[in-house]
Formats: sequence, C-alpha cells, structure tokens
Amino acid sequence: MTDISELLLSKIRDVADYPEPGVMFKDITPLLADPAAFTALTDALAEVADRTGATKVVGLEARGFILGAPVAVRAGVGFVPVRKAGKLPGATLSQAYDLEYGSAEIEIHAEDLSGSDRVLVVDDVLATGGTAEASIQLIRRAGAQVSGLAVLMELGFLSGRARVEPALAGAPLTSLLTV
Ligand code: AMP
Repeated sequence: MTDISELLLSKIRDVADYPEPGVMFKDITPLLADPAAFTALTDALAEVADRTGATKVVGLEARGFILGAPVAVRAGVGFVPVRKAGKLPGATLSQAYDLEYGSAEIEIHAEDLSGSDRVLVVDDVLATGGTAEASIQLIRRAGAQVSGLAVLMELGFLSGRARVEPALAGAPLTSLLTV
C-alpha cells in the first residue's frame, strides 16, 4: 500500500450498523478534518481530472460536493452538482434508478454542461454503483462526454464496478482505495 493510501485509509472511520443494521458506514469526516489527508485526497483526484482531460467536475450529493468542489478549483475547471430530486431551482434533467428497496431520482441543471464538456464524476464511496450509473446517464443526456468516474473508496464486494463500467463505455473508473 502506498503512503497516500495508508494516510487516507487511516482517516476513514468504520461505523457498524449505520444508518441501518448490516451496513458498515464509511465515515470520511475524520479525513475532512485532517488538512494533510484532505489536501492529499484533493490533489490525487485533481490529478485524475487533469489526466482524463476533464473540463468539468460533477459531484454527487452530498459528500461528492465536499470532495468535488476543491478538486474542480485545483484542476481549474467548473463544478456542477447532481442533486436529489426537487432541490435544483432551474430547468433540470431527471434520472430515476433502482435501490435495493424502492427507487431514487437525481437531477442536474442541463444548462451547466455543454456539448464540448468532458466530465469527471466524483463521489466518496462507490457501493452498488446505482447513483454513479444514473449520474453518467444524466451527463450523457445533457450532451456532454464522461472523462471518468473517480471515488475515494470502492466497496468491491458490492460489484459497483461491474454496474458502472457499461455506462462508462471505456472511460476510466479510478478508486483510490478498494475494500
Ligand atoms: P450506490 O449508489 O449504492 O453506489 O451508493 C453510493 C452512495 O451512497 C454514495 O453517494 C455514498 O456516499 C453512499 N454510500 C453507500 N454505501 C455507503 C457506505 N457503506 N458508507 C458510506 N457511504 C455509502
């Protein structure tokens, strides 16, 4: 394991049975509170934005906002939020997707992306991949290209990678940590 992986992993707190029994919640608040770790994470994700030629960063509500905004600033590109349905005031595109129980819906302001944009999607945790897959679909429907998906942590046992790879269509999935 590299030094940066060890630093990042050491700052993620496992919380058992949160928000419901059987879930091991990956709490990134200790990482955010540590300037060396937060800076290292921002630099690593900004490097992915540079390497993939991103012209925008899309962050997924809510922790994808905290990670994605400084990445966009560091990479010198714009930031666009993907929000839960009903939170954006302008003209939106919506995408529904299935959860383990029920469904969810996310939205984006389509006018914030253009046909010439290449978008890096940023989030903290890739679990089942449903949220990331729906976000990629939204970005494509807005007419933009996807430069990649970058997450702090991938939960390998939930097979999110297999779910998002068809939507990524060859664009890279970068996870700084896999558990
Ligand atoms: P999914 O759509 O299943 O990939 O879930 C991804 C979203 O749920 C991400 O925005 C994560 O922030 C959150 N999430 C899912 N599972 C966990 C977990 N075990 N710990 C922390 N966040 C999680």
